[in-house]
This record gives sequence, C-alpha cells and structure tokens, in this order.
Amino acid sequence: MKIRYDRNTCIGMFQCVDEWDAFEKNLDDGKADLAGAEEVEDGVFELEVPDGEEFEAEFSARVCPVDAIELYDDDGEQVV
Ligand code: SF4
Repeated sequence: MKIRYDRNTCIGMFQCVDEWDAFEKNLDDGKADLAGAEEVEDGVFELEVPDGEEFEAEFSARVCPVDAIELYDDDGEQVV
C-alpha cells in the first residue's frame, strides 16, 4: 500500500496528524510533513505504508479536507 501526499495542496488543517503519526505538523510552513517519504515530483511525496499502519494511513487520507492525500493498494488501484 502506498500513500501519495501533495504538499502543495495542503492547507495545514492537521486532521491527518491526529489520525497517523507519520504526518507531522510543520508550523513554520503551515503544512504537514510526511516522515520518511520520498519527493517524487515537486512538492509531491510518496511512502510505502508500513505493515500494520494501513488503517491509520487510510483515515489520514479520508479526513483531509482538500484531498491532498491519496492511498493506493498493491495493485496500484486508488483506495482513497
Ligand atoms: S489534513 Fe490535509 S490539509 Fe490538513 S494538514 Fe493534513 S494534508 Fe494538510
């Protein structure tokens, strides 16, 4: 399972931070940081979701009010 986070879209509401501790508040930028993620495009980050953290990752994607977080299963199908 892979999470894809568009930091350009993030408006810093930090709901994702409450759902999954991979997301951290960056108060200087007013945006979330996705710890350990790789920047695959300018401002777009991807991270393989660690085993056992799938639910947290899914909830973080669901609560984002601006849909900055997408989740993909192992077949590449978008889950959220
Ligand atoms: S919930 Fe969305 S808008 Fe809010 S901090 Fe997380 S990624 Fe950014």
